[in-house]
Amino acid sequence: MSDDNVMYDSPLEFMHEVAEKKGECVAQSVLPLGDGTYRCACSCENWDVIAPDREKGLEMAREHTGTLVSS
Ligand SMILES: [Zn+2]
Repeated sequence: MSDDNVMYDSPLEFMHEVAEKKGECVAQSVLPLGDGTYRCACSCENWDVIAPDREKGLEMAREHTGTLVSS
């Protein structure tokens, strides 16, 4: 299993990417909140949701971008 360059586990890495690609759906993050849920956000800044688990977060990310994100 390999993470592609769209998903980031590191908030810092994600924010760096977002800063460069502001307004575009080029990067989505699915980050654990510590209580079992995951916060999902997109670089377009128009998408920010809480997912019950990582799998659901990835699914919602795919729905948001309309593309298949391999995971
Ligand atoms: Zn987006």
